[in-house]
This record gives sequence, structure tokens and C-alpha cells, in this order.
Amino acid sequence: YTQIVLRERPVGDILPDTFTIESKPFDAKLDPGSEQALVQITYLSLDPAMRGWLRDTRSYMPPVQIGEVMRAGGLGVVVKAGEGSKFSVGDLVSGTLGWTEYAVLPDKKLTKIIPPPGTTALDFLNTLGMPGMTAYFGLHDVGQIKAGETLVVSGAAGAVGSLTCQLGKAVGARVIAIAGSTEKCAWLEQELGVDKAINYKSPTFKEDFKNAVGYLDVFFDNVGGDILDFALTRLKKGARIALCGAISEYNSTKPKGLTSYLTLIAQRAKIQGFIVFDYESEYPRAIAEMAKALANGSIKRKFHIVEGLENAPKALPMLFSGGNTGKLVVKVSDA
Ligand code: NDP
Repeated sequence: YTQIVLRERPVGDILPDTFTIESKPFDAKLDPGSEQALVQITYLSLDPAMRGWLRDTRSYMPPVQIGEVMRAGGLGVVVKAGEGSKFSVGDLVSGTLGWTEYAVLPDKKLTKIIPPPGTTALDFLNTLGMPGMTAYFGLHDVGQIKAGETLVVSGAAGAVGSLTCQLGKAVGARVIAIAGSTEKCAWLEQELGVDKAINYKSPTFKEDFKNAVGYLDVFFDNVGGDILDFALTRLKKGARIALCGAISEYNSTKPKGLTSYLTLIAQRAKIQGFIVFDYESEYPRAIAEMAKALANGSIKRKFHIVEGLENAPKALPMLFSGGNTGKLVVKVSDA
């Protein structure tokens, strides 16, 4: 079976030789021990955070080591249950499975998935999984969004961003989306119903931002860098900035500093970073709410599916070049 390991830590962009594809025999290593299960992987999630896991620095989890299977969240099917395992063959599970076709994991690292009516297993990598939970808790708990407020979302056509925009509309906020192409902006306006989408690559971006936004109450930031710095000049009194991510800086050895943060003082604004895993105990309530919205069509989902595990190393950099609209996943098998 195939697995993909980290060969070399990238300094800037992820390169073709960052990873190595290995072929492994079906040997005793795939025999699940007590309270373990062997999982055949179906889909893997590609996430900007994976760039951070390649960096040997202090973070919210340790880096992937050289020679180790690349870490990745995913879905799979239990094909063999070890002694005393709570799982049965055929169970659908999610977990940190990694860039491999098969993985043995302890029961406690796997979650059984039963898609609620109107949803699919794949939704657990998107709306009902990490991106959805990030949008939900980032917007409600950190952003404290309220009806009638102006919400600006960067990275708006991506997985987290597109869900954040829709949750913002659902609470009755005025939503301005920022994305990197006219196609993405059209999708955001026409399909997702944002009030206005603006292209940050346009030479008139700052003017467009001022005209569309005026001043903002909540900035949900997926991008960081220059866009964040400019957004800081457009704060209303009491504005909240939810620092979700800073993808514009992840490949950089010297992330950009902010020059406009003094507005936080004058506007009594609040800027707060967050990590979605801290809300784990509250996921069930958010999943139930999001599942209802998926089933009744009030939340729309979009996937960008790349076929074949061997294409994961080429697909991951798409997150940084903007090749994806919606949630980027790799299909590993039909299991
Ligand atoms: P996306 O699906 O949004 O993919 C990334 C997108 O970022 C690309 O499609 C691209 O769109 C945009 N982008 C890439 N480079 C730049 C740049 N230099 N400037 C502006 N936009 C850029 O990924 P996710 O939804 O999975 O993640 C979005 C953000 O949320 C990331 O920053 C991620 O780290 C963060 N995150 C944080 C979590 C937390 O717990 N805090 C949990 C999960 C995600 P475009 O064409 O518009 O440029």
C-alpha cells in the first residue's frame, strides 16, 4: 500500500521533493492490537495548517518529523478491529489518519461517524468538521457577531471563509467577502448571497474595500499580512477581529508585521487569535445546528476533490496559490 512521508522541511513554498511516496507491504504492522482498529482511508483533508506542521517550531502541536507519514485529518472505514475494540468492520470513522491508504489507530483516536439526514460522510471534513467548527466558533464566540453588524471575511471562497460568510448572513449581518478572483467573487455573491465580494488582487482593492465596507464591526481573518493591516484602518468603535489564520504568511520565513494596530486603541477594538480544538466539548451542538442548515439547504457546501493519494503533495500547494474554491480534499479510495 502507499504512504507519503516528509522528506525535507521546506524553507518557503512546499516543493516536489518535500515529500516521498513509499510503497509498503501488507505485514504485521497493519494488525490492530487490543482496542485498536485498522482503517482503510477514503478521503483526506488538505489544510493550510499542514504547512505549519512542517515547521520545526513551538506551536499548538508538535511538528511532523522527517521520515514520518504526513499528518492529515481524514475519513475511512474500519476493515479490521483489534481485540476489545469498540469498532466493528464497516464502521465509518474520522481521525488524524495521515497520508496513507491504511492506518492502525487506537480506538480513542477515532470517532465513529453517522451522517445526520441530509448530510454525507464527506461533510465531516467540511461543514460538520474542522472548517465548519472553525467558522462557527470563530464567528460566534470570538467575533461575537450580531444582526445588523458589518462582517468582513478574508479568504472568503475557501472552506472556512465560505462557511463564515453564510453563517454571517444567517444571523442577519451585512457580509463583505474578500477573495482572489472574479470567479470566486461571483460565486460568493450569486451562490452564497454575500452582500458584496471584492477581489484583493484588483489594483483598486483598497478603494473597493472602503466603498463596500465603510467601517466594520467584525473582521474574520483567514489571510493576515497586508489585508489584515488594511482592515485595521477600517474599524468601528468596539470592533472585534477574529484571527483565524494568516495564510499569506505561512510560506514566509519573515512574516509581515502590522503597521495599523494603533487604531485598536482609538476604536477600543479587540483582536483575538483562537484554535478550534479548544471548543471540542461544544462541537455536538454546532454540528447539530450545521447539519440542520445543510439538510434544509440554507448552508451550501462546495468541494474541490483531487483523485488519488499520490496527488496529495501536488494538491497541498493549491491552498497557497488559490487553486481551490470550497473545501480541498483528496479521494484515496471508494472503500
Ligand atoms: P481555504 O480553503 O480557505 O484555502 C486557502 C485559501 O487562501 C486559498 O484558496 C486562497 O484563496 C487563499 N490565499 C492563499 N494565499 C493567499 C494570500 N497570499 N493572500 C490572500 N489569500 C490567500 O483554507 P481553509 O478554509 O482550510 O483555511 C482558511 C484559514 O483558516 C487558514 O488561514 C487556516 O490556517 C485557518 N484555520 C484556522 C483554524 C483555527 O483553529 N484557528 C482551523 C482551520 C483553519 P484566494 O484565491 O482567495 O487567494
